[in-house]
Amino acid sequence: MNQPYDRVYNFSAGPCTLPVEVLEEAREDLLNYKGMGMSVMEMSHRSKPFEAILAQAEADLKKLLKVPDNYKILFLQGGATMQFSMIPLCFLGEGKSADYMVTGAWGEKAFEAAALVGNANLAYSGKAANYNDIPKFDSIKLNSDAAYVHFTSNETIHGVQFHEDPTVAAPLICDMSSDIISRPVDVSKYALIYAGAQKNMGPAGVTVVIIRDDLLERIPAKMHPILDYKLHAKNTSMYNTPPCWSIYMCGLVYKYILHHGGVAGAHERNLWKSKVIYQTIDGTHGFFKGHAEHHARSTMNVTFTLPNDELTTEFVKEAEALKLDGLKGHRSVGGIRASIYNAFPLEGCQALAKFMWEFATKHA
Ligand SMILES: *Cc1c(COP(=O)(O)O)cnc(C)c1O
Repeated sequence: MNQPYDRVYNFSAGPCTLPVEVLEEAREDLLNYKGMGMSVMEMSHRSKPFEAILAQAEADLKKLLKVPDNYKILFLQGGATMQFSMIPLCFLGEGKSADYMVTGAWGEKAFEAAALVGNANLAYSGKAANYNDIPKFDSIKLNSDAAYVHFTSNETIHGVQFHEDPTVAAPLICDMSSDIISRPVDVSKYALIYAGAQKNMGPAGVTVVIIRDDLLERIPAKMHPILDYKLHAKNTSMYNTPPCWSIYMCGLVYKYILHHGGVAGAHERNLWKSKVIYQTIDGTHGFFKGHAEHHARSTMNVTFTLPNDELTTEFVKEAEALKLDGLKGHRSVGGIRASIYNAFPLEGCQALAKFMWEFATKHA
């Protein structure tokens, strides 16, 4: 069955698929945004319409995640990667240490950036098992005096995910780039949450930071302005020109999710979608092998391998012919990765599952 506009099922890990309704609305607004005679891309960020776009995006994200009043929501640039450096620069002061729980490639990068700044402690690493599992937080020795504890809720490359909000003594910082607004979270358990937009929220170019007010007070006075959360908060994300178009697109996505049952609705759909693929993996008696341990399986990135490289190449090729696009796994895991973020439709997961059955039957 063809998708609207002859689009493919886009399993890309990021940037990734966006809801067709959102793209249609953006198209509608493209040449003349609400009678302004110009697009959001061309509009001054100091104009009333853009200020309204920013305020609405912030309000809708706050509503989606039930963000308490003692947090600021910031729309920054530099990707989640910039946060890997900004966090230690702002919070890992001299004489302090920070605990890093590393469950995949992104956590590794965050840890490496922090180690350049100060005393970053590798509290947990799943590297020996090629990051196929996640630990229980209460089984890990953490320093209650740490400046913060950092972890990655969903490891996009390896396909492992924490399904619950951990409780720790030190301020908790989380990279939610690949699962933000895909499931309910208790924001009050976190001191700082950050996420690049291009997986679940919109196009690349904007990074959302949700930061608790008391953290802003810990930032050294002599911080570089562009790296200073406090300055960004004081200027409501307009210390310098914000990524206006990306913020506008995120705003459309937030509205779309609010209209479709909020994060609870998204979560339910995501559980179904991932189940369709995981059941197929488990049903083929070892032809497909899931990379992640069952309890650590991600609802966003489903990673699995085939018996050999030739079959993997053939699988990707045949899938593409069926408009199942972007399935090739990351080289560090090999095999296949199906990224099925919020906007990815259930029908695409069913189409993949059907193809997997046929492929396994043919080649087993
Ligand atoms: C994609 C991703 C990143 C990197 O994001 P950029 O916006 O490219 O800097 C970081 N962390 C996670 C978990 C990711 O999925």
